[in-house]
Amino acid sequence: MTTLHLLGFPRIGAKRELKTLLESYWKQEINNEKLLNASRELRQRHWLLQKGAGIEQVPVGDFSLYDHVLDAQLLVGAIPSRFGFSAATLTTQQYFELARGNDQQAALEMTKWFDTNYHYLVPEWHTNTRFQAQTAQLLAQVHEAQALGLQAKPVLLGPLSLLWLGKTKDQAFDKLALLPTLLHTYQQILTTLKASQVEWVQIDEPILALDLPSDWLEALASSYQQLQTGSPKLLLATYFDSVAEHADLLKTLPVAGLHLDLVRAPQQLAVFLDHWPQDKVLSAGIIDGRNIWRTDLAKVLDKLQPLADKLQQRLWLAPSCSLLHSPFDLATETQLDADIKSWLAFAVQRLNELKTLRCGLQYGAAAIADELAGSNHAQQQRRASHLIHQPSVQQRLAALATDADRRHSPYPVRAAAQQAWLKLPLLPTTTIGSFPQTSEIRRARAAFKRGELKPEQYQQQMEQEIKLAIQRQEALDLDVLVHGEAERNDMVEYFGEQLSGFVFTTNGWVQSYGSRCVKPPILFGDVTRPQAMTVQWARYAQSLTTRPVKGMLTGPVTILQWSFVRNDLAHSEVCRQIALALNDEVRDLEAAGIRVIQIDEPAIREGLPLKRAGHSSYLQWAGQAFRLSSSGVADSTQIHTHMCYSEFGDILPAIAALDADVITIETSRSNMELLQDFAKFAYPNAIGPGVYDIHSPRVPQVAEVQHLLEKALQVIPQERLWVNPDCGLKTRNWPEVEAALTVMVSVSKTLRAQLTA
Ligand code: GLN
Ligand code: ZN
Repeated sequence: MTTLHLLGFPRIGAKRELKTLLESYWKQEINNEKLLNASRELRQRHWLLQKGAGIEQVPVGDFSLYDHVLDAQLLVGAIPSRFGFSAATLTTQQYFELARGNDQQAALEMTKWFDTNYHYLVPEWHTNTRFQAQTAQLLAQVHEAQALGLQAKPVLLGPLSLLWLGKTKDQAFDKLALLPTLLHTYQQILTTLKASQVEWVQIDEPILALDLPSDWLEALASSYQQLQTGSPKLLLATYFDSVAEHADLLKTLPVAGLHLDLVRAPQQLAVFLDHWPQDKVLSAGIIDGRNIWRTDLAKVLDKLQPLADKLQQRLWLAPSCSLLHSPFDLATETQLDADIKSWLAFAVQRLNELKTLRCGLQYGAAAIADELAGSNHAQQQRRASHLIHQPSVQQRLAALATDADRRHSPYPVRAAAQQAWLKLPLLPTTTIGSFPQTSEIRRARAAFKRGELKPEQYQQQMEQEIKLAIQRQEALDLDVLVHGEAERNDMVEYFGEQLSGFVFTTNGWVQSYGSRCVKPPILFGDVTRPQAMTVQWARYAQSLTTRPVKGMLTGPVTILQWSFVRNDLAHSEVCRQIALALNDEVRDLEAAGIRVIQIDEPAIREGLPLKRAGHSSYLQWAGQAFRLSSSGVADSTQIHTHMCYSEFGDILPAIAALDADVITIETSRSNMELLQDFAKFAYPNAIGPGVYDIHSPRVPQVAEVQHLLEKALQVIPQERLWVNPDCGLKTRNWPEVEAALTVMVSVSKTLRAQLTA
């Protein structure tokens, strides 16, 4: 019989129980014992759900109080020595200090887990990093699962991936130098697990989906040679992209099984089936662990049947990757449109899909006739639904002129036309869009959503906030003002709610990091903009001042990137639809007299495919979509964009190709390292490198801001340099904002005076 398994399960819980627990613990409302007991119960509940679906190999160690990469560091006893903690006796309190920092030490750095929106804690590697197996916690969880009568399949982050994902500290060195001692520790861990009656261990090497240098591939081969001795059976798990280029290596690797992501990379299956070794399990990641569309059971069954015939017992079935990236349970979504709901599957529904597929393989399609009928019906109904397909959208896109994504004139001509009316001083000052989201603002929005505040009342209150924001910006003497985004709780949700083609869940939370979750909108259908989305706020703001007010939109790539996107249309096409809808808004803003418009694209970098081979086509369509959203306006209308918190250095040509008149970009945390890249590449348009970090309540000093701007002036011509913070200010309070912006404006004025003297 085919074995069912999961690479991991959402740890946050159906009702975000883990979030509540963590936050209560941090506020000292519950003690350590309560936290540990309650999280044990949560784990057990999740295992029993899996058991109910006939999953016999349950993942153990996928649960984490904060982050599984941090747990992997602890398992090998490698916590940064700067904290002064002992890995062997680490307390829960200390564990959270590693994750969140303490009075003396900054937290471990956090960064995105491959191309997901999950953030992991980055290991810190020193030439003298030492490892030591710390298996007590993992073993305790193994025993918990075994006590429930389940086969525990521990999940380990593989040694190569663990090393790769870390950063070298103090000095740059070859991380592979740490591998021999690390492997020794992994061997100890594996031997210990074997002694605890563990039959299978899942060992994740997600870096296999990247373009790996040859020395890492060689190291992989020799590592697994070494790890297999005295170990339980190893299931090597890969996900997020194809590993076909390593097929020969992976087929000969001395592991007992291999997991492939056949949702992201279905084409790799053929390569692996060809001469698949007789002694290895193939785990087919056949249902989507990253998106929320219900599986087309008939189609998948057809695909699986020949596999099952060929591999028999050696075929395992699983979601494509850990269900960590999937919301918990669709059943709790009582507000969703019934049709749309019938097209979806969350983690709990994935368990049933697995169970059904196995039943179909074992007893034939007739045994799952009802499920197949249900699945077929949903697929057909979805394909034909008028909710999804709006022929007018496709017609509009098809009819677009070939230069619809081009501004009328090149940048220098536009810049002159803009300056003719803007008459901005040198080093003009602006902000990124949002101002503090005070508790009054949040209360008003919540009351409005609940229907307790009438639309007129809500509008009045928001206008009051806009007025305050404008007054404060005038008092600060900023040059280009913003309305402050009081009406937005989230930069994607705000637009998704007003565009057609999106729905929102009540509980579709996915862990972002620690206790933080996000609830991505579901982009299910063709996108249109039934009516203007931001014009009334921008127009009101502009009516209050003679200074230019900058309209504020979220860009097409960012909206796409931060949603669960339909799987029946290429992302490039979906993105074009969003771009067209945004372009309608841009034109309406312009017509309403808003002639500076910012289109934020903070997520453009994170959509980059994992493999370099995919980069240029992605950047091509992403850039086209941005330009489509921002074109068609007069030369004198100034288009801004904004980006933050990603490595932009390697995609600067693509950023330049967006052809925004001004880009504001986060740089202060890297001490303006990015500017070197801008200098080397000779970025052609105007740039506002962020002059202070908005994540800290700390008010920047005059000297710091001045130093950064002087550095910027060395590489950016003064006529093209803007002055602004790193990002939006919504997480700060007004006193901090006013103090920081006062410094920023005064430095700009000082330098301006020097430059014109
Ligand atoms: N305009 C947005 C703001 O200021 C930009 C946010 C972002 O870059 N993530 O909040
Ligand atoms: Zn930003």
